[in-house]
Amino acid sequence: MKEALLWEKLDDGRVICQLCNHFCTIAQSHTGICKVRQNQEGELVSLNYGKLIAAHIDPIEKKPLFHFLPGSHSYSIAAPGCNFRCAWCQNWDISQLNKANHPSRLAYTQPEAIVEAALNSGCESISYTYTEPTIFYEYVLDVSKLAKQAGLKNVLVSNGYMSDAMLDEYIPYLDAINVDIKAFDEKIHRKYTGAKLEPVLSNCKRLKKAGVWLEITTLLIPGINDDQAQVEGIAEFVATELGTDTPWHISRYFPQTQFQEREATPPVTILSAMKTGKAKGLQYVYAGNLGKGEDTYCPQCGKRLVSRSSVWLMENKIVDNLCPDCQTKIAGVWSGDGE
Ligand code: SF4
Repeated sequence: MKEALLWEKLDDGRVICQLCNHFCTIAQSHTGICKVRQNQEGELVSLNYGKLIAAHIDPIEKKPLFHFLPGSHSYSIAAPGCNFRCAWCQNWDISQLNKANHPSRLAYTQPEAIVEAALNSGCESISYTYTEPTIFYEYVLDVSKLAKQAGLKNVLVSNGYMSDAMLDEYIPYLDAINVDIKAFDEKIHRKYTGAKLEPVLSNCKRLKKAGVWLEITTLLIPGINDDQAQVEGIAEFVATELGTDTPWHISRYFPQTQFQEREATPPVTILSAMKTGKAKGLQYVYAGNLGKGEDTYCPQCGKRLVSRSSVWLMENKIVDNLCPDCQTKIAGVWSGDGE
C-alpha cells in the first residue's frame, strides 16, 4: 500500500479522489469505483502499487501503436483494477477485481526491477497496459521517471479518463498513448462503460496538443457502436479535432467468456468503417483482428511503406520520416531519437 497522489480530505473523514474523471467521494474504509483506492482513516491509499498481475514483452504494434518505434519491443505491465466496466473487456479477469486477483494476493515488484527488466530484454519502451494504467498511476509515475533516466520511452494504453490534474503531472513523462474511444454516443458510452464520453474526447485533444504521439482504437461491437452515426462521429472527431494524420485502429470484436450476447463483428463492418474513416480524410486507418488492413501507405503517392502481419512488422521502407518515392513526410515517431 502507498499513499495515493491527487486527492483531498473532507471535514467529515471522507476523501475525494482526483485521479480520474469519476472524482469519487470515498467514505472511511471504502474504495472508489476502481476498487483499488481506499480511504484508510481519512487518508487515500493505493492498494495496487507495484502489485503486478501481468508483465510481458510485446511488439509495440500490439498496443496497437503503428507509427511509434515500429518493430521495437515494449516491456508491458499491468496492476489489477479498472475505472470502466466494459462488459466485453478482453482482460476482464484482471481488470475487474475479485478474490483471485486482489492486490493483497500479489507479490510486490520494485519500480527499479521493471526498468532493469526492460533494458535487459532489449525493449525500447515500457507500456502501462492490459488494465487501465490510470488506476495504478503512482506506480506508473515512479517507473516512468526511472525509465526516462534510463533512456526508455513511456507508453500508455488507456481509456482516456484521467483527470486534468493527472495529465498536468504526467504528460512530461509520456511519449505515446493509444486511447480507446469505445462509443460515440453519450448514453451508450455511459451505459456500457459506466463513464462519460466527453472527458475522453477532451483528453485526446489535450494529449495531441501537448505533442504526445497519439493513436486511437475503436473495438466495433455489433449493435452497440457499429451504427453509421457513431462510426462517422468518431472518424469526424479524429479528422477534425485530432488531425487527419492521427492513426485510427478499427478492431473486430469476438465474444468473450463473460459477454456472449453479441456475435463477432462481420468483416464487412470493419471494411465499411475503414472506408468511412478514409472518406473523412483520415490518412492512416487500420483494421485489427481481421487478418488484413494493417499496412501503411503513403497518403500522397499511395506506395506501400510499412507491411505488417497481425502485430508483427514485416518491412518498413520509410527513410528519415519520408516516403522514399515522393518525399512526403509520414507522421509518427520512427526512431528512438524522436524522428
Ligand atoms: S481513480 Fe477514479 S475510479 Fe478510482 S477512486 Fe479515483 S476517481 Fe474513483
